[in-house]
Amino acid sequence: MPANSTRLSQFASYENQWMAIGDSAISFDPLSSQGMLTALYSAKLGAEAIFFQYFNGKEITNKENRILPLEVFQQYLENTFNKYMREKEFFYNKERRWNNEVFWKRRHENQSYLNIADD
Ligand SMILES: Cc1cc2nc3c(=O)[nH]c(=O)nc-3n(C[C@H](O)[C@H](O)[C@H](O)COP(=O)(O)OP(=O)(O)OC[C@H]3O[C@@H](n4cnc5c(N)ncnc54)[C@H](O)[C@@H]3O)c2cc1C
Repeated sequence: MPANSTRLSQFASYENQWMAIGDSAISFDPLSSQGMLTALYSAKLGAEAIFFQYFNGKEITNKENRILPLEVFQQYLENTFNKYMREKEFFYNKERRWNNEVFWKRRHENQSYLNIADD
């Protein structure tokens, strides 16, 4: 079974009342060992977004701006995935011993293992 890097095109919809957390939102190359932490932290942010936005109707603020919890949740997943993709590219590009092997050829092509799925 392929272990592609995958993300949804969006992580939540206020209008349609859904959100995706953990592997259902973004999934990583198993070598990166990022799945558990991201699943737990996105669940925490997702729960906070539901609590504040859906039940309390309040916004969480930071020092600079007022930010809706749902946006915090979505931004976290967006940032996490972008950072992960940069790091993955960096580490795979360091490996040059088997340049002629299909496995490594594929991984040296830019983002050839990224899937973006529509919900
Ligand atoms: C072989 C392997 C090794 C890994 N090693 C690491 C590691 O070292 N470090 C790390 O951080 N991450 C690792 N991961 C990734 C990590 O396991 C996942 O990122 C993490 O478990 C995702 O958690 P989740 O809750 O989002 O999804 P899951 O753990 O997949 O939980 C989803 C649950 O929903 C259930 N489910 C699915 N459909 C339905 C349905 N229709 N109704 C009811 N229930 C349903 C499933 O049975 C499952 O129990 C590894 C993954 C694999 C496969």
